Amino acid sequence: MSIDAEAADKILEKIKTVNSGLNLWLEKAQALYRGEDNLYLIEVPDPLHKKTLSSKYAEDILSVLRSEINTGVALGIEVRRDLAAKKDTVPKITIREQQISLPLDTKPEFVPYLNTKYKFDNFIVGSSNRFAHAAALSVADTPGQSYNPLFIYGGVGLGKTHLLHAIGNAIYEKNPQTRILITTAEKFLYEVVQKIRENKMNEFKDRYRSVDLLLVDDIEYFQQRGEAAKEEFFHTFNELYTLNKQIVTTCDSPPQELKIEERLKSRFEAGIVADIQAPDFETRVAILKQKARENNKFVPDNVIGYIAEHIENNVRSLGSTLLTTIAMAAHINDEITLDIAKQAIKTSNPHFETAKKIGIDLIQKVVADYFGLKVQDLSSKKRPENIAKARQIAMYITRNLTEYSLVQIGQYFGGKDHTTVMHAINKIEKLVKEDEKFKPMIDELIIRIRK
Ligand code: ADP
Ligand code: MG
Repeated sequence: MSIDAEAADKILEKIKTVNSGLNLWLEKAQALYRGEDNLYLIEVPDPLHKKTLSSKYAEDILSVLRSEINTGVALGIEVRRDLAAKKDTVPKITIREQQISLPLDTKPEFVPYLNTKYKFDNFIVGSSNRFAHAAALSVADTPGQSYNPLFIYGGVGLGKTHLLHAIGNAIYEKNPQTRILITTAEKFLYEVVQKIRENKMNEFKDRYRSVDLLLVDDIEYFQQRGEAAKEEFFHTFNELYTLNKQIVTTCDSPPQELKIEERLKSRFEAGIVADIQAPDFETRVAILKQKARENNKFVPDNVIGYIAEHIENNVRSLGSTLLTTIAMAAHINDEITLDIAKQAIKTSNPHFETAKKIGIDLIQKVVADYFGLKVQDLSSKKRPENIAKARQIAMYITRNLTEYSLVQIGQYFGGKDHTTVMHAINKIEKLVKEDEKFKPMIDELIIRIRK
């Protein structure tokens, strides 16, 4: 049987369709057939390719060769350095349903379940998550380089999963050919148990070990039983790491506190560890504004401020409280008010109790009534003398009766800058000291508020 270069090539293409591992490892390969030796020779760019193909895939390759050429055919694998520069010729196994361009008999193995809602664009950065965000961006820009592996940890609902998907989405958008596998530790454990039962562990290994980017959410699940899965994860991790493939994991606690095997722990510790803390007030305000925009709703500053003030350590409840507020308002007349927000907070956070006895809303109401104004005037941009004065008085009282910060007070009074609040408070303080009619008025207001 004579096999020319073209036929040898066709056979190589066929071999690549056997599984994703072969597709990966043969990407830059070239093949030829030497009839006199009955030898099918595959040339690969480096020793690692040669080693992996001969130790892991020789049988797969031979079975194709035996059926395509003859049963006595021998397989040779040689290194040819110049192949490293070769451009990719075949489409890799691609990801996401809409982009599949696979050889007919290959299964799409890298359909990543990326949530396209989680992007860098809509991730609000503040001091609580600045480093984790920067590290995630670096990974997305230069995967497999300096930030590898990346370990992101933090409490519930603080944006770990969001960042994980953002990395996947960004890398995918830049290069849809990247093999991305996103999973959770729980799913990984489950899959290993399944595959062992079905006797399909090799398939599983090939799949996981041939990715360019492995994203694993909620590593804390590895604290549970499931030795085989942990063992498998460890080896997958090592293999990918050796190949400079990017690995990102998230967890609810730092690696040191994880109750997992030392060797896995030290792998995590050796990489970049970034934590996410609960967002500060300003970040919470920014997140709420972003969510309001996403929902095309105008939400008044005092409502945003109120929710941001009362939901402190979970971004997820921040979002859900805002959505509940919007939904409740839609049942009335679509106007989003502080009263509705208060109800919404109680509805969506059953354990919620108003922490601060005197709220800014009460202060605003008493002060507005006293001066015959509307509450909204106090948070408006209106500047007539009487309104501006009432606003400054309300800010001053708020500062004295509550623990709200200048930033928070500014937020409640129409999104004003903290320096404006500072200025207002200083001005009223001066008046209280210098104008003898002024002090009794402030006292009267405070009595009414305390009632
Ligand atoms: P975790 O995985 O840490 O429990 P998630 O990533 O699921 O938290 O975040 C919970 C919700 O909060 C998601 O809807 C997410 O989009 C949102 N979220 C968290 N952090 C931010 C942020 N910094 N900016 C915008 N949205 C955020
Ligand atoms: Mg999560």
